[in-house]
Amino acid sequence: MMKLGNFELHAISDGSFALDGGQMFGVVPKALWERKAPADDRNRIHLSLTCLVIQTGRQNILVETGIGEKFNAKFKDIYDVEHPPTLLTGLCDLGIKPQDVNIVINTHLHFDHCGWNTRRLEGMTVPTFPRARYFIQRGEWEQAMTPTERDRASYIEEFFAPAEPQTEFVDGDAEIVPGIHLEVVPGHTRHLQCVRIESCGECAYFISDTVPTTAHLAYPWIMSFDLYPMETLVSKKRLLPELAREEAIVVFPHDPKTPWARLVESNGKIAAQAVENVASAATRK
Ligand SMILES: [Zn+2]
Repeated sequence: MMKLGNFELHAISDGSFALDGGQMFGVVPKALWERKAPADDRNRIHLSLTCLVIQTGRQNILVETGIGEKFNAKFKDIYDVEHPPTLLTGLCDLGIKPQDVNIVINTHLHFDHCGWNTRRLEGMTVPTFPRARYFIQRGEWEQAMTPTERDRASYIEEFFAPAEPQTEFVDGDAEIVPGIHLEVVPGHTRHLQCVRIESCGECAYFISDTVPTTAHLAYPWIMSFDLYPMETLVSKKRLLPELAREEAIVVFPHDPKTPWARLVESNGKIAAQAVENVASAATRK
């Protein structure tokens, strides 16, 4: 847990999964990336499924919903999905039942970000959070419903489409409740939205797949999944120095060790400060 002004933040993981290391690091050769992320015997690296809970005092807000459990044995094998998934038990440990979640924000609709938007119940697939409003960029929803040959494997309609009646479609940047801002950051997908959280002059930033792990803080370390990698580069060069200057807490969706950190810039390079420092810095007044 971390205090951010009047808000409380909790990073909860839905467990872990694995993706091909080459796909995760794009143009970076394995000789370099495997020092930071060792590969298994199928060349996969293990990743977290980090979700963020924001308690504003009025709302329980959930950013991302992990990978869920609506998949078959082949999928589980390919992606080495940890079972059972842990998002709902993690929420429960905070005293939050599914009906207590007021807002769900998905940065985008790839299957590892919206798995618990829905769940299977008595032969139907229904929204997991029955009272929540779900926020997504309209353009991302349209892409997810009509993907191309290149990104079709990343979208599973059953994970998000049954929650459409509770979905609010956003066009561009928006402040959805005081202090919670959605910001479109193109690159990984055209309409990916990051989440800026502000309270009492303090800032946290859910950076999503723009920077999936701390290893991706280096500018050219960009995933080959990205549909617009040159835009990812532009987005990173704009955002990261700014977040370092603001001393923002940055939340990484897939880092297995560092769910959040502050950034420091020196000689044009961006590095993450350890979690312990963040915790003490965040409580420092
Ligand atoms: Zn993604």
